Amino acid sequence: MGKGANSSSKVGGKVIDVVRKNAPSMVVDAAPEEKEGDGEKMIDNNIIPGRKYTQIRGKTYDITEFAKRHPGGSQLLMLAHGRDATILFESHHLRSEIVEKVLKTLPTVNVEESWCPDETFPKPLDSSLYKKIQKRVREEVVEPRARKSGRKARGAGGVKFDAFCVILCYAVALYMFNMNPTVLTGMFLGFSAYWSGTGLQHTANHGGLTQSGFVNAIWGWFGCDVILGKSSIEWRYHHMVSHHSYCNEATRDQDVYTSFPLMRLDESLEWKWFHKYQAFYSVFAWPFLYLAAQTGDFVNVVITKSSPGVEYLGLMKHELALFYLGRALHYGVKFALPMYNFGIKACILPLVAYSTFGSFILCWFFIVSHNLDGLTPAALPKRAQNDWAEWQIRTSASWGESFWSFLSGGLNLQIEHHLFPGMAHNLYPKLVPIVKEECEKAGVPYHGHPGIFGLFPITVKMFKFLHKMGQKPIATRRSSRASSAKKAL
Ligand SMILES: [Zn+2]
Repeated sequence: MGKGANSSSKVGGKVIDVVRKNAPSMVVDAAPEEKEGDGEKMIDNNIIPGRKYTQIRGKTYDITEFAKRHPGGSQLLMLAHGRDATILFESHHLRSEIVEKVLKTLPTVNVEESWCPDETFPKPLDSSLYKKIQKRVREEVVEPRARKSGRKARGAGGVKFDAFCVILCYAVALYMFNMNPTVLTGMFLGFSAYWSGTGLQHTANHGGLTQSGFVNAIWGWFGCDVILGKSSIEWRYHHMVSHHSYCNEATRDQDVYTSFPLMRLDESLEWKWFHKYQAFYSVFAWPFLYLAAQTGDFVNVVITKSSPGVEYLGLMKHELALFYLGRALHYGVKFALPMYNFGIKACILPLVAYSTFGSFILCWFFIVSHNLDGLTPAALPKRAQNDWAEWQIRTSASWGESFWSFLSGGLNLQIEHHLFPGMAHNLYPKLVPIVKEECEKAGVPYHGHPGIFGLFPITVKMFKFLHKMGQKPIATRRSSRASSAKKAL
């Protein structure tokens, strides 16, 4: 499918139209509808409209009935509907031989022609480095913990204390804000929203908070939609399908291109004159992340049913109902209630403090994870471009240790998180020595800033990177010199 192509697909009996403007290489192989040139997604005779299908390593599976039994919950399985989900499948399951057994029990569908584009990006289980790390993580971290706790050796669950602290922090902050809305209580409420976004919703929506898919769905929704005011639907498609699968790839990872033209985070993006100042003005943009995300979510979930490059093909009716309920609760307890009690005027500044403070921290912790010199795809050697694990390791950076994992829901250990996104975040510090050792053996650089103050050197590096990306590319400089010379003639 080409750049800017229109497509429509049937989801739950409805036809969803999507304009894919920003992800030209998201879809590489021509799908049947493209060959007929009518813009309509033609469904193969073997594919029954209304049922749910996914493709994994070239095989089509009917996942309609399995959605009710999927241990990770239907909200995660439905991300796979209508697309090649090989990367999602292999990166979110730690015990590949067990899930492959389950896969064999699912009905397969013989399709004469590809009904969805094949995955062209490197796949996790084709990486020997990934398999080595995965084996060690299971044997040295997950299985001993399972023997001790009596839980299944899944890597998910066991974050009760962290989750409790996040929820308690939110409850106290919300109470204080509603009793006395000030700039200070607003900032505290903003911090609690940041912490919920990282320590509760992020782990729960990845499926790592508990071993129950249903409980993860509830906390994922509460932490994201209710506390943060962001849509967990949008988050799952954007963060899991786009960002995690294709970290830092400029046409497939939304985190790289959705902030453009404001921010230029990759060499392949067009340079504009104001990018020269992006290292300075970026911090002034961070406070507006909440606002931008909430507005964008509304358009994505309600109007287009897609984020740039990713259609919400598996969107379920109850998810949509929960989106509206979440919005009502979020604005009700954080905006309407204090305004009703204290008046609109008295709440404006405290609410600005709430929105901008939490947003600032969230943005800061996000941006240092993948935006440093040497982490862009152009900097990767050919070997890394064909190896999913090496790609994820080389495009991510880790900082700090357990204390910061507690306060950032494991966002600080991005290398470990990107290798095992469905894992409980309190396990990531235990993965660090394993990943480092295997990286050293394989000759793969590990971008890490250990220590309690690791956030500061990594922040300096991030600003240097923003400055570098903001400089006029040499080719552009040459071509503009050439065009000025032409004009002079
Ligand atoms: Zn994540």
